[in-house]
Amino acid sequence: MKKLLIANWKMNYGPIKAGSWIRAFRRERLPKDIDIAVAVPFVSLAAARASLGRASIPALAAQNTFWEDEGAYTGEVSPTMLSEFGAAYCLVGHSERRTHLGETDDMVAKKAAALQKAGIAPVICVGETAAQRKKGEAVKAVRAQVQSAIANLKGDGRAPCVVAYEPVWAIGSGRPCSPQDTKEMHELIRGVLTKKFGHLAEEIRIIYGGSVDVRNISEYMTTTGVDGALVGGASLDPRNFGLICRAAVPA
Ligand code: PEP
Repeated sequence: MKKLLIANWKMNYGPIKAGSWIRAFRRERLPKDIDIAVAVPFVSLAAARASLGRASIPALAAQNTFWEDEGAYTGEVSPTMLSEFGAAYCLVGHSERRTHLGETDDMVAKKAAALQKAGIAPVICVGETAAQRKKGEAVKAVRAQVQSAIANLKGDGRAPCVVAYEPVWAIGSGRPCSPQDTKEMHELIRGVLTKKFGHLAEEIRIIYGGSVDVRNISEYMTTTGVDGALVGGASLDPRNFGLICRAAVPA
């Protein structure tokens, strides 16, 4: 299974800066045996696509979607609209959306299923809060989030999703989850996926996110059960993200 690295710009870079980032990143020397994607704000999808031209690296990802194809949902964007930009992936349930925008497990499940129907791989973000970890409830919280998010997904031949394990306390904090704790949580997630999808679960990538940078990426990429990384802050500089991509794959 190829590893997957996704840059998450969060709410940064409108169309002008998005175009510059893509052009600068395209000048980076990139490893071949890895999948690379960039999750950009809705308004920057067109510029990112235009700057990519016919190139397919990095693949495009959206950061959110609605679950209906069209209709009276002012301000929302549907998976079929995202398809028009050639989005290959879309984040769902990022902790920042769960925290600030009231995104619930039920909404995440609906979004994931709608994306799968549109042929876009949902990147399902899960992770416990610091309080949950302190109380010994991390496993319970993450298991419940994964079970709920995949409930409406079909296991019909293609890998149905990507799962991003992102402990809330590790995101943007400079305090990443230890590789050992990450390994244990990825094993748990793999178990939940296998229960639902059987053998197909082997093709689902479980990636880690939370303060990943150029110094620690190789440690995660060599941790058993870690199939890639979701990189926020450290991906904002295209050259730095290029360094991370190179450091992710042994030369
Ligand atoms: C993220 O945005 O998903 C993320 C992991 O952010 P950071 O790398 O900045 O912790």
